Amino acid sequence: MPKALWWEKGVRFECQGSGKCCTSRGEYGYVYLDLEDRRRMAKALNLRTSSFTRQYCTQTKGWWHLIGPDKDCVFLDGARCTVYEGRPKHCRTWPFWPENMGARTWSSEIKSFCPGIGKGRLYSKNEILELLLQHPED
Ligand code: SF4
Repeated sequence: MPKALWWEKGVRFECQGSGKCCTSRGEYGYVYLDLEDRRRMAKALNLRTSSFTRQYCTQTKGWWHLIGPDKDCVFLDGARCTVYEGRPKHCRTWPFWPENMGARTWSSEIKSFCPGIGKGRLYSKNEILELLLQHPED
């Protein structure tokens, strides 16, 4: 019988506006973008998609992401995203990222890092699955 997912009964989350998910966290610091994200962000910044990509993006293993996973996001101002309306799907779906969903990672890293975990409304298993499917690098 397959092992039950620890988030089978859902997970509570509500963004507390800490901006922590936009700060550097080493290998978890990548903000991936697909073409739709790059177009949306470019539009929000009043740039051509090609200019936005040249200025703010780079590729690793064939996947586009914002520059500097080793630094805080270039669009972060204090705890505020300066391109919030145009932010990529990767940001919109925090904390439900495939690399965050292991039971140990969630309880030892994500929970202690993000103040929104365990607060707010319950995300159902199906909602979480839908959010996980939005990830451009998967
Ligand atoms: S684009 Fe905005 S929401 Fe995404 S990591 Fe950067 S500052 Fe945070």
